[in-house]
Amino acid sequence: MKKMSLVAKIGIGMLLGVVIGVIAIFFGGNEFVLDWIKPFGTIFVSMLKLIAIPLILVSLIDGISNMTDTSKLSRIGGKTLGLYLTTTVLAITLALLIANVVNPGSYLPDEKRIELKEKFAKDAMVKQDKASNVKKARPLQVMEDIVPSNLFKALSTNGKMLQVIFFAFLFGIAMVMSDQEVVAPVKKFFKGVNNIILNIVDIIMKYAPIGVAALIAGLIVDVAGDDPAGALDLFTALGIYGLSVVFGLVFMIFVFYPVIITSFTKIKYRDFFKAIFPAQMLAFSTSSSAATLPLTMERVEHNLGVSEEVTSFVLPMGATVNMDGTSIHQAISAVFIAVAFGHDLTLMDQLTIVITATLSSIGAAAVPGAGLIMLVIVLGSIGVDPAGLALIIALDRPLDMLRTVVNVTGDATVATLVASSEGELNHKPENVS
Ligand code: ASP
Repeated sequence: MKKMSLVAKIGIGMLLGVVIGVIAIFFGGNEFVLDWIKPFGTIFVSMLKLIAIPLILVSLIDGISNMTDTSKLSRIGGKTLGLYLTTTVLAITLALLIANVVNPGSYLPDEKRIELKEKFAKDAMVKQDKASNVKKARPLQVMEDIVPSNLFKALSTNGKMLQVIFFAFLFGIAMVMSDQEVVAPVKKFFKGVNNIILNIVDIIMKYAPIGVAALIAGLIVDVAGDDPAGALDLFTALGIYGLSVVFGLVFMIFVFYPVIITSFTKIKYRDFFKAIFPAQMLAFSTSSSAATLPLTMERVEHNLGVSEEVTSFVLPMGATVNMDGTSIHQAISAVFIAVAFGHDLTLMDQLTIVITATLSSIGAAAVPGAGLIMLVIVLGSIGVDPAGLALIIALDRPLDMLRTVVNVTGDATVATLVASSEGELNHKPENVS
C-alpha cells in the first residue's frame, strides 16, 4: 500500500478534530473533550516548543558557520532584512486599502458595540496589562532587548528567541573568522547535533495528526462553550470585519506571493504551494510560526530545494521578525476599531499605522494571540482606546490561524527569493510532494 502523505494525515486529523468538537458542543461532551482530548493537543504544542530553541540555536550556528566568508553573510543578511521589511510594508499598504474601501467599522450597530465592549472589557484589560510593559518601552528598547546579558536565561524561555538568534549569529560569525583547522571539530559537532534535532522533528511530525485533531476539537469547544448560538451571533456581527482580514490574507497567499515567486524565481507557484502546504496546515492548527518552524525548514530545504545555508539563516529569523499576516490583521483591526469608536482617521494616522504595525509585527512573538496583544500599541499610537480590542477578541483565534499561515508563507517566499538570487536554489519538481 502506498504510504499516506503528511498533508493527508494532518488533513484527516483536522477533520476529525472538527467532527469531535461539533459533536461535543451539540451533545454535551465539552467536559470530556477538555479533560480527555485537548491534553493531546497541548502535548503536541509542547513538543514543538521543546525543540524550537535547540533547533534555532544549532541550525543557525551550523548555517552561518557553513558560509565561506563574512561578506557573503552580510550580503545574505542585508537581502533578507530588506525583503522582510519590504513585504511587510506592502502587506500593510494593502490592508489599509481594504480597510478604507470596505470600512467594516461603519457596519457595527451601536447596541452591539456597547454590548460587546461590556462583555469583553475584562479580557481586553488582561491584554492591555500585558501590552503596557511593551508600550512603556523607550524607542530603542527593541534593540536593547535583542542583546542578552545571560545566554542561559535567554535559552530557558521560549519568549526570547531574538536573543538566542543574536547569540547564534555572534557564535557563527566568530566561527567563520576562526582558523578553520582549529574549529573543524566544533563545526562537525554542530552538524551532527543539527542532524539529530531534525530527526527529533521527524518523530514529532509522526504524532502531528493526533495533535492537530486534539487541538482543533479543544478549540471548537473553547470558543463555542455552552452557547453555540450566541457564539454564532457574535461571529455574524463581526463578519464583515473578519472577511476583510480574510480577504487581505488570502490575497497575500494567492496573488502577492505567487507573483513574487513566479517573477523572481524559476519555481512554479503550484510547486511552491505543494511543497509548503504541510507547513501551512501546521501553522493553521497551531497558530504559531515558532511551533511550525521545524516543519517549514524541512519543507523549504528538502522539497523546495533551498540550500541548507539559506534555510537555516533566513527562516528562524523570519519566524520571529517577519509577520506579513499579523501586520495585515493589525492594520485592518486598527481602522475597524477606530471607526467603530467614532474616530476620523487622517492620512497621518494611516502613516502612523504603517510604521507602528510594522514595528509591532516585528516585535510580536511567534505564538498564538501575540498579534492581538501588540495591537494595543497600534491603537495607542492613533489615540484609540485599547479597550476596543474587546470588539475583536472573539474572532481573534480563527484569524490568528489564518494570519499565521501567511506569516509562514511569507518566510518561505523570502527564503526562496534569497536562495534564487544567490544561485542556491536547487529545485527539483519531483521532490515537491
Ligand atoms: N500567531 C502568530 C504567529 O505565530 C502571531 C500573531 O499574529 O499572533 O505567527
